[in-house]
Amino acid sequence: MTKPGLSSIIIGHHGIGVIIMLLDLKKIIAVPGRVSFEYEPDISDMSFSSVVKWLSPLHAVGEVVNTAGALTLTASLSVKMLCLCDRCGTEFEKDKLIPVEAKLAGDLEDPDNPDIFPIADDAVDLDEVLITAFVLGMDTKFLCSEDCPGLCPKCGKPLKDGPCSCKKDIDPRLAVLGQLLEK
Ligand SMILES: [Zn+2]
Ligand SMILES: [Zn+2]
Repeated sequence: MTKPGLSSIIIGHHGIGVIIMLLDLKKIIAVPGRVSFEYEPDISDMSFSSVVKWLSPLHAVGEVVNTAGALTLTASLSVKMLCLCDRCGTEFEKDKLIPVEAKLAGDLEDPDNPDIFPIADDAVDLDEVLITAFVLGMDTKFLCSEDCPGLCPKCGKPLKDGPCSCKKDIDPRLAVLGQLLEK
């Protein structure tokens, strides 16, 4: 099921068919206007070290707007994922939202500029724009909560579930003080 305005083409690549999702921009290439889209780029093969698995498809809703001859793609990416906390190692679910804003241009004055994506044959490769934004927008730090206390250095128990049964080390200076006071 292809949504209006979207067309997929298969490009041969070393004998393997690669499907590319193109968004047709003919309507707005020369005149002001907007083309909206809804699409789910395939991220099933992608892995991030602290993501255990994807719990939903990557969903994108957005539009391309021609304002005074400049084409801008804006979109919102959302995905639900199962993550591992970098600090305590427990699994937690997270809804990740990534806003996308990208400039599109037919003639790339500077092909190395990573912020501008090419328009070819009046269409833009949605996968290229959305997957790039997804990778750049992904978290670099995964915490089950902002103030995750981590693990007990003695028994290794995650401390977010409450204190473990280890006795706290007493500051040796306080221990000496305690002995003095007992006398
Ligand atoms: Zn944690
Ligand atoms: Zn402990």
